[in-house]
Amino acid sequence: MRPGRNPEPLGKTPLLDLTYEQLNGLLASWGEPAYRADQIWGWLYRSLAADFEEMTNLPRELRERLAEATLLRTMEPLGERVSADGFTRKVLFALRDDQTIESVLMHYEQRHTTCISTQVGCPFGCVFCATGQSGFVRNLTPGEIVEQVLYFARQLKDQGRRTNRPITNVVFMGMGEPLANYEATWQAVETLTHHEGFNLGARRITISTVGLVTGIRRLAEEGTQIGLAISLHAATDELRDELVPINRRYPLTHLMAACRHYVERTRRRISFEYALIHGINDSPEQARQLARLLDGLLCHVNLIPLNPVPESLYQPSPQGRILAFQAELNRWKVSNTLRVERGADIQAGCGQLRCQRMPTG
Ligand code: SAH
Ligand code: SF4
Repeated sequence: MRPGRNPEPLGKTPLLDLTYEQLNGLLASWGEPAYRADQIWGWLYRSLAADFEEMTNLPRELRERLAEATLLRTMEPLGERVSADGFTRKVLFALRDDQTIESVLMHYEQRHTTCISTQVGCPFGCVFCATGQSGFVRNLTPGEIVEQVLYFARQLKDQGRRTNRPITNVVFMGMGEPLANYEATWQAVETLTHHEGFNLGARRITISTVGLVTGIRRLAEEGTQIGLAISLHAATDELRDELVPINRRYPLTHLMAACRHYVERTRRRISFEYALIHGINDSPEQARQLARLLDGLLCHVNLIPLNPVPESLYQPSPQGRILAFQAELNRWKVSNTLRVERGADIQAGCGQLRCQRMPTG
């Protein structure tokens, strides 16, 4: 990484980038007893420590050595915005190389869900997505992915929410394509679900993908219960090629075969995301095509009224067309939900995140 604005000298090991075994190995090389890794992971992921000085059951020399050799935090919040209804909070973070990412926290019923990024920008260029329009810069590290969750967990804890489980759900639906940064994404999932780590149930995590077939097949072999969401948006190759250009490489027959395989391996229902775009993919006939494509698959469709993206030609479908589309899906008994989009007023809705400076407040 290039030296950035972060004053910490580079060369220090970001602690959150280490797996439990790697941390164990580091501590063993320092001559520390085996239980230290448990203690440190407890401070990092359960007590949500923001500073080594908080780790009061570690000897002072170890705390000092950790502070010299490792980094506990690698990103700084540059600004936060809260939606008018107060349910959605978006944070812009500066990374150590001065790149920026955005992450979102949503409160909904009893849930506190973080929507996290896996890349700076995104290489796939879906035509209606603000992240895709800003291009691709780099992958995030495992620690940078997990740190977004810890940031919000600490914030909730400081606000006096239930301390041991402030975050109830994590969705990989922020900037970037998780399955194009597979190793880091998977390590982050393992840390978040590790019983000595953040200890979140796998069923409380959802990975969303644009449809990278090799990644979906790889995920199917992990033997996990995490949720999978596919950003579909069109039920024919002709239209999907246009809206989601990676479809030219992984056309619908291959994508659907991978989805069927995923359901067979995991027995978990897949979600399909379908952003309704006025006059493009929102006719009753297109709803019938979608029903045919998904026929017989254990799945659920999330209908999302398109979130407006500046300078985009694409507009959200009007309510009448949305309801007619949904009625057609219902007629064909396709399980679906019409999502109430939240946070669009602060550009925190699906597909609205981008790498740019933003005003605070
Ligand atoms: N790259 C992954 C993860 C990002 S998730 C993926 O594409 O699945 C972001 C979700 O918001 C995806 O389902 C994406 O297709 C959707 N999206 C993108 N732009 C949108 C917009 N303008 N309005 C509504 N949804 C959008
Ligand atoms: Fe990338 Fe997903 Fe946006 Fe497509 S929808 S450009 S894959 S972040």
